[in-house]
Amino acid sequence: MIDRYSRQTIFPEIGQAGQQKLAQSSVAIIGCGALGTVIATSLVRAGVGKIKIVDRDFIEYHNLQRQILFDENDIKEGLPKAVAAERYLKKVNSEIQIEGIVADANYANIERLVEGADLILDGLDNLETRLLINDVSLKHKIPWVYGGAISSSGMTMTVIPDKTACFRCFWTNNTARSAALTCDTAGVINPAPFIVGSLQSVEAMKILIGSTEINKDLIVIDVWHGEFSHLPLGRRADCPACHGKYEYLDAKYGTRATSLCGQNSVQILNPKSSMVSLAALAGRLKAVGEVSYNEFMLRFLVDNREMVVFPDGRAIVKNTSDESLAKGLYSKYLGM
Ligand SMILES: [Zn+2]
Repeated sequence: MIDRYSRQTIFPEIGQAGQQKLAQSSVAIIGCGALGTVIATSLVRAGVGKIKIVDRDFIEYHNLQRQILFDENDIKEGLPKAVAAERYLKKVNSEIQIEGIVADANYANIERLVEGADLILDGLDNLETRLLINDVSLKHKIPWVYGGAISSSGMTMTVIPDKTACFRCFWTNNTARSAALTCDTAGVINPAPFIVGSLQSVEAMKILIGSTEINKDLIVIDVWHGEFSHLPLGRRADCPACHGKYEYLDAKYGTRATSLCGQNSVQILNPKSSMVSLAALAGRLKAVGEVSYNEFMLRFLVDNREMVVFPDGRAIVKNTSDESLAKGLYSKYLGM
């Protein structure tokens, strides 16, 4: 192994042996916002051999405040996050494999997305997909590291299947309800996801090199108040996921329209649709509104509404949080 990692291999807990293990490891980062960009840059620079970055979104100006892999040019080029992240990170480390995938992680594709991964890292902004990750992790015995940040605070926990508490053990309906209230309104200052993403990265390194010092607690931080605390976690006797009931993976709780956290937009998923030709769609939509597209996405303006369509048939309807309105526009203009 060459000099690139010398400052890391001098660190005795990693050493040359740990570095070799990192190089032979494969991780899937699901979600490439603030947390995902921090985790990805850390693990790419640390020399993890294979890194898959999955994200459904494109880059907007309000992302630049905290999503450290993106810049204004990416926005001008209309790049999805997964594409911009892959492009940039390949310049940072050409010795590893980096794959950006523009997709919404959902019950229909998640098992394929994490296939072969030694570890899953959560860079998501929504609870439903986290519960899905938890299911796929337990089903396929792939550890995952949860992270979340909002306002000036954040949390992380590590899930090792059959060994630790899982996310569903901890995340009961009551905790979900209290957290959901703040999502759209609380905002976030960037040190919060920077710290949480960094804690997730160090946890990833420990898991990948086989360290026994894995975090067994819920770590809660508040950067504004300088607080850092550990809360012990226990397995819940009636946890469905721990008993092999994968209700999110089995799509019992899947939804087609999802209001996107803090963005005043609604995403429409159509698990039944196959790949869409954006060129053909643009041809159809030109008659009714303003259309622009590249190979990654199509933008469509009509009736003072903006819709973004992706080749997998997914769409984001902007400037609304009304799911039924968004569904209506989707079926009206895309007919899928
Ligand atoms: Zn559980």
